[in-house]
Amino acid sequence: MKIAEPTVERLVQYHRLLEQLVAEGQKVVSSQEMGEMLSFKASQVRKDLSYFGEIGKRGVGYHVDRLHKHISRILASPRKWSIGLVGVGKLGEALLGYQAFQNDKFHIRALFDVDTDKIGTEIQGILCYSVDDITEIVREKEIEVLILTVPGGAAQHVADRAVQAGTVKGILNFAPVSLSVPENVLLAAVDISVELEKLLFFLKHKEE
Ligand code: NAD
Repeated sequence: MKIAEPTVERLVQYHRLLEQLVAEGQKVVSSQEMGEMLSFKASQVRKDLSYFGEIGKRGVGYHVDRLHKHISRILASPRKWSIGLVGVGKLGEALLGYQAFQNDKFHIRALFDVDTDKIGTEIQGILCYSVDDITEIVREKEIEVLILTVPGGAAQHVADRAVQAGTVKGILNFAPVSLSVPENVLLAAVDISVELEKLLFFLKHKEE
């Protein structure tokens, strides 16, 4: 089944919301309520959920617990992914401390940096290696996903050296450069300034 990226993004948001509703003990939720809490149209929520085989009862809504389990199954990982993070500076450390990173879907197995004060130490409980050894360590630890939080000028070189290990399947790039990677490596990029630009663009159009 090929699912478009925005749908996957919304699915993750439905899942988070449902997690919260389960914790609060809410039994049922309507597409209207979910839409309001996530700023989506109710019709979008119904369309997405029916695509995944969930049809709410008219006038009642969805059974929170059941829907949560259903989406959990769709988002479930086949195994715990092994992750490496390169560049343990302000952003890298902030990500490591992010609560959503304490997740049973993945495990951050190694950190890499050039800073000799960091190399050989544990940062948030994870050992930091010299980036000079990245190919060997990535191979040894079978790291499949890399998070890049290095300066832009270092990102391509670091990615190339890590990919040489032969185990990397995906890269999440925070550095403000576009990377070129082999076809079999999935690339995703996150840029907060792009998100802010997008928001400002929509605000401008709303005001016009
Ligand atoms: P920082 O200077 O605090 O951290 C960079 C870290 O990378 C340092 O620990 C440094 O020692 C290390 N480093 C430098 N060269 C390296 C190399 N060749 N190999 C391994 N490690 C290396 O910077 P920061 O504020 O954490 O930003 C990190 C990156 O993230 C920058 O590229 C910045 O532009 C980008 N950034 C992106 C977003 C976003 O939304 N995508 C937001 C903020 C920052």
